[in-house]
Amino acid sequence: MARTRKYGQKGRSIMDTNHVYRVGEVTVTRVPELILDSNTPEYLYPQWDPSFIQEHEKWLVPGNMDKTRMHIFQSIYTWVLRTKQHTILIDTGAGNDKERIWMPRLNRLKSPYLKRLKAADVTPAMVDYVILTHLHVDHVGWNTQLVDGTWEPTFPNATYVFSKSEKRHYSDPENYPVNSRVKFIVYEDSVRPVIQAGQAEIIEPDGVEFLEGISLYPVPGHSIGQMAVCLTSGGEEALFGGDVMHHPIQVYRPEWNSVYCEDAQQARVSRRWALDYLADRRALFFSSHFAETSVGRVTRTGDRFVWQFC
Ligand SMILES: [Zn+2]
Repeated sequence: MARTRKYGQKGRSIMDTNHVYRVGEVTVTRVPELILDSNTPEYLYPQWDPSFIQEHEKWLVPGNMDKTRMHIFQSIYTWVLRTKQHTILIDTGAGNDKERIWMPRLNRLKSPYLKRLKAADVTPAMVDYVILTHLHVDHVGWNTQLVDGTWEPTFPNATYVFSKSEKRHYSDPENYPVNSRVKFIVYEDSVRPVIQAGQAEIIEPDGVEFLEGISLYPVPGHSIGQMAVCLTSGGEEALFGGDVMHHPIQVYRPEWNSVYCEDAQQARVSRRWALDYLADRRALFFSSHFAETSVGRVTRTGDRFVWQFC
């Protein structure tokens, strides 16, 4: 992409779609949608402690926090996996033209996401599976696009895979707090149309192999039925963790939930599971919202974890 690097001296530009990771025989490419640079750490993490900055300044600034130390950097993107058999997308960002009045940064977007997908050599018709870690607003948007006033599946040949408990919860307006029931529109414009088109496969994530080398594990807490995608190929492993963490800060402070986590206790249990998994199995972590390369490894030192971008 013809965009100069915006953040930091280290790592690649967040809008770079050219770098391809390999996990065994599977290639993984990031297709970016948005950069988020206005969240303050106090907002994202209610338990935020400013002394964290002094201790971690070296990796935080300028790649993951701005030079004023007021805002943290995040991003929204899709991971494209190419296996021998399939082209698979993990999560679909916020989408274009969607009415998101409670979240101005995502409201009625006009991003060149599909052009970026093409730059990664993927056309919508080529996509076989869309795996949705969860059904929040920033993960399901490109499931659909506006065609002559109706929301049509963006990927006409794809099977959209998501968890049964997510569907059960977010398809019922009664499950939304009264003051945020407007968010039900996300289900209506981005999830219901793919079900109506007969393209949904609604599953119970159980850790059993779902596609060759790909297993889906339950990591609830951030959302009601979030799932992580575990990839094994050629003796290598990777974990796509959804929003089990929003920023590398949580590798060092796993007890800090984001303001968006819906079940605080369960979110901490799932985060701890993911960190143990990554450290014990030396798996690559493909995040959903980290800045820089968005990819890295977790190691253990004593009873703490350490993050390293790859
Ligand atoms: Zn998210």
